[in-house]
Amino acid sequence: MSSAEIDQRREALKQVFAQASVCTRCQELATTRKSVVFGAGNANADLMFVGEAPGASEDEQGLPFVGRAGKLLETLLKEIGLERKDVFIANVLKCRPPGNRDPLPLEIENCREYLYRQVELIQPRVICSLGNFSTKLLRDDPTGITRLHGKPQELTLGRRTVRLYPIFHPAAALYTPRMLETLREDFARLPELLAQSAPPQPIEGEADALAQAAIVREQSEAGTAESAVRGLGDQKSSDGTSASGGVTKGAPAGGDEPAGAVDQLGLF
Ligand code: URA
Repeated sequence: MSSAEIDQRREALKQVFAQASVCTRCQELATTRKSVVFGAGNANADLMFVGEAPGASEDEQGLPFVGRAGKLLETLLKEIGLERKDVFIANVLKCRPPGNRDPLPLEIENCREYLYRQVELIQPRVICSLGNFSTKLLRDDPTGITRLHGKPQELTLGRRTVRLYPIFHPAAALYTPRMLETLREDFARLPELLAQSAPPQPIEGEADALAQAAIVREQSEAGTAESAVRGLGDQKSSDGTSASGGVTKGAPAGGDEPAGAVDQLGLF
């Protein structure tokens, strides 16, 4: 992958962030949020984490996982030789649900496009879904995290095939020592997973058809016909098969974009 391609994907990611940062698809969230928490880290990371939704601290600071669960995530990363700047951390929802209530199906549907675009542009090899919520959403299946944690599977999200690696949510592990132990064990397998070559990518036409089929299915499930198609067809990712064997594929995101984009994407 050339550095020009990496730069191109990073710039495209900043544009998606710019779109998300003024999103009003969910009226309640748009009027109650302090920030849109798009996600943060390395725009070319091999490893991505997907949590549920921002909480109060995240909403305040505009960054994901900045509370106690985030600290634990950092500790676990450190134990396998990684830092936040090596990975990309995002959530299923980019806005905080008031009072930290559960995200609603329509909110998930409205926000899904942003997550898919992040996956297409960052091109991670491995995505760790954190806890039940994001695991169920990404797998489109109600099987819970207790059965699935620590078991990698190939999964196509939007136009990208990744290895999904469900693990317990660090917030849950904060209060349950046994769960923390399991989370640690699952983390310890990450370096081995990251060392594997990238999963085969869908060929382009097929990927478009898959992405479109997923959108149509999800729309009918969420009972909305309008939200999910906006914008999804306007950008193609390259095939993006990573040539690097490392955890990150290039320099952290950054540049001379509007302040918000730099703050959230060029943090490190
Ligand atoms: N929990 C999440 O799922 N996401 C955050 O950003 C913080 C806590």
